Parts: sequence; C-alpha cells; structure tokens
Amino acid sequence: MTRPSFEEIQLSATENSFRDKVILITGASDGIGKAAALEFSQLGAHVILLARNQDKLGEVFDQIESESDTRPIILPCDLSQLTHENAKEMAYAIEQEYGRLDAIIHNASVLGSKMSIAQYPPAQWLEVMNINLNSAFFLTQALLPLLEASPCGRIIFTSSSVGRKGRAYWGAYAVSKFATEGFMETLADELKATSDIKVFAVNPGGTRTPMRAKAYPGEDPATVPAPEEHMPLYRYLLSENSSAWHGCSLDARDFLS
Ligand code: NDP
Repeated sequence: MTRPSFEEIQLSATENSFRDKVILITGASDGIGKAAALEFSQLGAHVILLARNQDKLGEVFDQIESESDTRPIILPCDLSQLTHENAKEMAYAIEQEYGRLDAIIHNASVLGSKMSIAQYPPAQWLEVMNINLNSAFFLTQALLPLLEASPCGRIIFTSSSVGRKGRAYWGAYAVSKFATEGFMETLADELKATSDIKVFAVNPGGTRTPMRAKAYPGEDPATVPAPEEHMPLYRYLLSENSSAWHGCSLDARDFLS
C-alpha cells in the first residue's frame, strides 16, 4: 500500500479538528506521550494521561490546565500490573467523565535489558511483555465499545525498527514490538469489515527522549528529532483525513519537515 504524502500530512497539521475530542495517551508523563498530550490539548482535545509517575503526570496536567481550556484527567497506572478488570474499570471511568472516546495512543513502553535471549531474565521478559503488549490488548478490548461511539475512532500503536527486523540483544522489547505490529494488523483486518475505527502502527525512529538516552547513552541528543517534530503525523492519523490508511505501519521519520 502506498503511504500518505508528506504534503498531505502537513496540510492536515494546519487544521483544528480536535476540539472536544477525547484521547487516551499511555506513557503521557514523558517523551513522545507527553508531547502528544500537550499537542492535542492545545488543539482543544480532552486528554487522559496514563503513566506511573504521579509527580510527572501532575506536571503535564498543570501545564495543560494553564495553557488550554480543556478537561484533562490523570489515570495513574502501572501497566505491568494491568488486568482485564482494571481496564474495564478505566473504560467505565472514561465513559462517566466524557461519554465516549475518540482515540487511543498506545505509547507507553519500557526497553528492558539489552542482553541475549539465552541470558534474558524470565521475570523481566514477562514484565516487558505486559507493559509493551498485553496492556494494549486489555485496554483496546475494554475501550472498543467507547471508540465505536466516536464518529472518528482511531488507535495508534507504537512500534520500533526492531519490531520489523530482529536485532541481537534487543530481547523482549524487540519481540513485543513485532507482536505490536501483528496485533495492529490483526485488529485492522477484523475492523475493516465491521467498524469505522481506523488503526495504525507508528515507528517513531530515534527520538530525543529518556528511552533513547538509555538505549544510546553515547549519542548526542541533538542529532535526533524532538518528540514534537512527530506531531504533524500524529495529528494526521487522528484526523478524518487518515481513513484511507487503515492498517498501515508508518515510519515517523519519513514525515519530518
Ligand atoms: P520514554 O521512556 O521517554 O517514556 C515512556 C513513557 O511510558 C513514560 O511516560 C513512562 O511513564 C511510561 N511507562 C513506562 N513504563 C510504564 C508502566 N509500567 N506503566 C505505565 N506507564 C509506563 O519513551 P519514549 O517517549 O521514547 O517512547 C515512546 C514510545 O515510542 C515507546 O513505545 C517506544 O518503544 C517507542 N519508540 C521510541 C523511540 C525513541 O527513540 N525514543 C524509537 C522507537 C520507538 P512512567 O515512568 O511515569 O510510568
């Protein structure tokens, strides 16, 4: 399938079609998720901020409150412990607060250890899978009915280059990202016949965040794009203009200005 053009995405980025939309962002306390929370709230969306660190979530919340007239909420949650029941409770809370959901950005992830499969600690394997993959299943399943209530339901899954081509020592992180791509494709294929919800996977590529600094400690952060530079693509994908790209897996770096 061909991809949306750079020009299409820049055009979409100039439109303000997010007023009063409700968007759940996992990993909203830092990095790309924080940039998305600030971006979409500035465009008028009500953002649901999910992560573990309540102090950092509070800072994002305060910034949104001071810079926009939207109604953000904080959902403190350790996704490594998320269950089907917790996800249903979150869906209920979101329905009570907003009555619907327009988009999910499944963005939270951890890197885990960089080591061989032979030596990978089993408990950490499970933890990485829970955070990076299984939580997205629980949340998606619980929230699909709320997304169906939206005229423009969207889900963005977050992938990685190591989720498309295996790389030694990237362990559970790489495997979780392969599975994320497969999850997105499977869901996309199911929804295309039954629903108007559109789903995508985005590989941000090297981006200036705490995760990147941990993965590449010797790298000069100035040599990789800031999270804000990816926001035109995220805006495009959550807008009505992206309908034709249902099921696509995209590299954010292809769309940088
Ligand atoms: P960061 O490490 O900067 O941020 C990760 C976010 O996930 C934080 O908000 C963190 O919040 C949250 N998080 C981590 N563990 C949990 C948990 N157990 N429960 C709830 N929230 C959690 O990552 P990036 O912004 O760099 O990455 C965002 C996405 O982009 C990830 O999916 C990553 O795999 C992907 N990606 C990033 C690249 C890069 O170069 N930056 C390259 C390719 C892909 P808290 O600690 O408060 O819980």
